[in-house]
Amino acid sequence: MLPADSHVHSEWSWDTNIGDMEGTCARAVAIGVPAVAFTEHLDHVVWTADRGTLEESPHLASFADGRGRVTAPAFDAAGYLAAVERCRDRFPGLRILSGLEIGEPHLHVEAVADVLSAGRFDRVLGSLHGLPVGPEFYEPPMLFEHFGRERALRLYLRRIPAVVAGSDAFAVFAHIDYPLRFWPVGAAPFDPFAYEEEFRLALRAVADGGRVLELNSRVPLCPEILRWWREEGGTALSFGSDAHHPAGLAGGFREAAHAAEAHGFRPGRHPWDFWTS
Ligand SMILES: [Zn+2]
Ligand SMILES: [Zn+2]
Repeated sequence: MLPADSHVHSEWSWDTNIGDMEGTCARAVAIGVPAVAFTEHLDHVVWTADRGTLEESPHLASFADGRGRVTAPAFDAAGYLAAVERCRDRFPGLRILSGLEIGEPHLHVEAVADVLSAGRFDRVLGSLHGLPVGPEFYEPPMLFEHFGRERALRLYLRRIPAVVAGSDAFAVFAHIDYPLRFWPVGAAPFDPFAYEEEFRLALRAVADGGRVLELNSRVPLCPEILRWWREEGGTALSFGSDAHHPAGLAGGFREAAHAAEAHGFRPGRHPWDFWTS
């Protein structure tokens, strides 16, 4: 059986215009995904996107000002939670978890608490998508342009302990390898050992903070990171495809499950439980 997909976006995530909660549920039933968590984006940071990113995505550009500063619209918690209830009625055989993916939760503690108080969110992810640069906030690839990709990755990983220490709103730390999605094709390949110290620092902070590490399957997670996670005290894993449309659900999950098993992680009692070592 495939693991639960604990990181999925629907039309309630502001950054996708092809998200579809009902379609994703139907897809889960069709391909045998036992449980889905709709972890919609909750973003308060205003970030500066590069021209290429905005040109590629007119939808994203519709939230940008003339300087490329992107402001996410407010999250409609009540509307979202009602949509989850409708899908639970419509797909009784599928376990549907409510959730959020909170970007930079440590920077917006009160605003985050406000949204969380609106109802029940079963699975809450914390994410770091970028870093402040002076008065701006850059995500990769802008971060790579500004700092160089090696320094940007080190700075990104070194910031993770502050995210964990600064917010108890989330249980799962999402996509610890997020900058690697933007590693330039044609550049020297990513060598995990060159960043071992920084990865271990970040993983230790996540483990010591009592959080779960996400195995995000958007890009295959380096096996070394799974090994370091266990060595730094990590005991639980969550699986997430980060799909923003139904076809992406559980993408790469067979390989991800094999990798987790190879590092000693096993499914829990229920399909929506975290895998543990
Ligand atoms: Zn994310
Ligand atoms: Zn996501």
